Amino acid sequence: MRSSQLFTKTTKNVPADETARNAQLLIQAGYVYKVMAGVYAFTPLGLRVVENIKQIVREEMDAISGQELIMSSLQKRSTWEATGRWDDDVVDIWFKSKLKDGTDVGFGWSHEEAIIEMLKQYLSSYKDLPINVYQFQTKLRNETRAKSGIMRGREFVMKDMYSCNLDAEQHEKFYQATIDAYMRIYDRLGIGEDTYVTFASGGAFTKFSHEFQTVCDAGEDSIYLGKDKNGRTIAVNEEVGDDETLADLGVKREDLKKVKSAEVGNIFNFGTQKSEDTDFTFTNEQGEKQFVHLGSYGIGITRVMGVIVEKLADDKGLVWPEAVAPVKVYLARLGDTPDVTDLADNIYDELTSKKVAVLYDDRDVRAGEKFADADLLGIPYRVVISSKTIETGSFEVKARASGETQLISRQELMRQLGA
Ligand code: ATP
Ligand code: MG
Repeated sequence: MRSSQLFTKTTKNVPADETARNAQLLIQAGYVYKVMAGVYAFTPLGLRVVENIKQIVREEMDAISGQELIMSSLQKRSTWEATGRWDDDVVDIWFKSKLKDGTDVGFGWSHEEAIIEMLKQYLSSYKDLPINVYQFQTKLRNETRAKSGIMRGREFVMKDMYSCNLDAEQHEKFYQATIDAYMRIYDRLGIGEDTYVTFASGGAFTKFSHEFQTVCDAGEDSIYLGKDKNGRTIAVNEEVGDDETLADLGVKREDLKKVKSAEVGNIFNFGTQKSEDTDFTFTNEQGEKQFVHLGSYGIGITRVMGVIVEKLADDKGLVWPEAVAPVKVYLARLGDTPDVTDLADNIYDELTSKKVAVLYDDRDVRAGEKFADADLLGIPYRVVISSKTIETGSFEVKARASGETQLISRQELMRQLGA
């Protein structure tokens, strides 16, 4: 990718209508375009980050036998009436509209009911189970507050997975496997160390649930952190009562430290409650009708992107972990003499042919501007090619996260960049 061809531009101006740092930086760097409060478009750079996060999640969901699909955004009223969740008093974030003939439709804010309705058509025997399906989808929610940038959108990308199991035992096993997969995901996304699985109240529709909370000043939630009897860090959800905190962990809440956090994922155990509401059954080996054990498992893809920004950015701009960065290398060509241009073109071609993603700053702008952009964009490695580096016969490489600079040979450059 060449900077001269990228339609987005960076800006030094902090958007006046944004209080969230993640949105300010992402807009300034040209990763997102703000359409209205809580509604953002993702530009080519932003889309790459979203896709990288999705790919990590996809790999881990596939590894626990998830089958990817995509449901529709338009939802039928009857689908949600069975569980009482069409009612605006029960679910207060619906966007709704009508077809030309007056038929009610809703815009998918979640997909449990819709998935169940579909799966009922296919699953009828114990031989069909277990099954788990997942999707990446843009959810639409009429959120009251949308002040956290992409961390709380009215339109946002979620990964939602739904599991169907034969019995409680099979279900618990899968539920636990999902917790493990989620922790692998947050590790790979670079926020694993600060992400905790906390027990949360199930709410009106669930047996129980767990939340994945990442310590983050910009988060809307709070968790309590402390050490258990064995010295391991434990986290307690704010909603969990004092009695449970004593009883479960052997620690008192007042010993615990309260920190701000963001919910980056959650998992719900429905038991057979939802399948009873929707009459979702299968026949067992004895030919008897049984209710399916259901679970649902969310990850806020675009919220995670915002959390990564909030946690890693510094005073110069974004800092992406390599696993999610839109490209690995920011190649800054300083000057346009033929020796510099030829070498920079050549390095760009070699890295690209070896599948190392590069943003090649081939614009005729000052060095200072290129460096400021490299920092603002948060690309993991900046490589500089100038008459000066050519004279020394070396390449200047700077790591964005540590700020460490090295002068290295071409061979070493290729080795370090994985080419
Ligand atoms: P929250 O408590 O933050 O309102 P939720 O409990 O409604 O979220 P779910 O409906 O289960 O969450 O959604 C699954 C995941 O999607 C959440 O864990 C969160 O990471 C993400 N998410 C939820 N709402 C939003 C939103 N408005 N914008 C961005 N991400 C969201
Ligand atoms: Mg929640």
